[in-house]
Amino acid sequence: MAGMARPMAKVSASVKRFITSDYKLESVLPKEGWRESEDLISAFNRLTLELSAYHAFHLSQIVEERAKAEALVETIPDGVLLVDDRGRLIYSNKVALKMLGIPKPDTSIALPGSVSREAFQVVLKDILTSQEDFLKAEVAVPHPDETYAIVRNFRVISRRFPLATLKAPGRVLIIRDVTVEKEIESARETFFHMITHDMRVPLTSIHGYASLLARFVSASPEADKCLRAILRSSVRLKGMIEDILNTIKLERGALKLRLDTVDAGVLCAQVFEIHEPLAALKSIKFSAVPPPSKIEFQGDSLLLERIITNLVGNALKFTPRGGVVTVHCRQEPGEVVFFIEDTGPGIPEDKQKEIFAKYTQLEEHKYLGFGLGLAMCRMAVELHKGRIWVQSSEGKGSKFIFSIPTK
Ligand code: ADP
Repeated sequence: MAGMARPMAKVSASVKRFITSDYKLESVLPKEGWRESEDLISAFNRLTLELSAYHAFHLSQIVEERAKAEALVETIPDGVLLVDDRGRLIYSNKVALKMLGIPKPDTSIALPGSVSREAFQVVLKDILTSQEDFLKAEVAVPHPDETYAIVRNFRVISRRFPLATLKAPGRVLIIRDVTVEKEIESARETFFHMITHDMRVPLTSIHGYASLLARFVSASPEADKCLRAILRSSVRLKGMIEDILNTIKLERGALKLRLDTVDAGVLCAQVFEIHEPLAALKSIKFSAVPPPSKIEFQGDSLLLERIITNLVGNALKFTPRGGVVTVHCRQEPGEVVFFIEDTGPGIPEDKQKEIFAKYTQLEEHKYLGFGLGLAMCRMAVELHKGRIWVQSSEGKGSKFIFSIPTK
């Protein structure tokens, strides 16, 4: 039996050693015992040799993949973090540690507790307790020395990702320093504000003198036509300038409502009248349906007119020739609701919220406007404590709806 039992015991001990040494082959087993034992030992030696080579190859591949990923992640200027379902740090590049003020990463670190910058703590807490797949947030971080009035702005983007070892998903967080981007945006807005503001004076004078001239030359039909075109364009340009200035003021919280009694039907009819010639030019069937009875409420009539003008303007702009655009309003319990409907291209469902953000335009409409109109409408409606939204199906048209509380 010794011819079989001893070699078997050696093979068994060798298997244990092989596993505990992490598949590293230290030496081959010498053949001994019966012929069958010798065959077994040589088969075992071949098996361990192959396993060891296979394991070493995979290990070097994993190390290489990790080195590649690290080289990428450490080269980009953004902070990158991976955390598990409980906020424990799985991976972080050096930039992220510096941004968050984490001195040294180790496995015991959990967000947001280990983050020394308070502003980040608040945002990270919200992100890590959220069940949303995709999140975006902005963080303004003051200079650590409060005597400096310097603030750095960061954008945090987060997405959930599945972890093979855990039931709940983890999160990847990308932190980007957007301080310079914000400064450029603010400078651009100040410049935009100054120019638009200064354009108001000459424009008022063009409009004023054109109306005066219209009185003297009304005998000539050609001159009359030209003057009417000048007047129409100057009114449109004035509206666009008002929208830009209103957007800036609304954003800064500097616009106060000038409340008066507004007749909803009259408001719709006024906007309809101004846009009728434009609709006729595009052969669009345009109508303003009067409400069955008078609807009166407290609102800022000039601002409300700009909201309906923008929505009607968009409907006429995006609806192709021969389409239909309708504007109407309705009294509902506690609110008045306005509807601007068109038979244009419609808006995809995933963009129906986004278009109310500043500078957001559908890809196919880039450069057809500023992308400010709907943002201004949203802020102006919200200042009235109302709501604005769109119902649309692609290819069939859009229905913009906004409601203003009447109580
Ligand atoms: P602008 O019209 O100046 O681009 P807006 O803020 O008014 O900016 O509109 C944002 C975007 O929303 C438009 O560029 C367009 O892509 C989309 N949009 C707005 N109204 C309509 C509409 N009635 N039909 C189709 N798309 C629209």
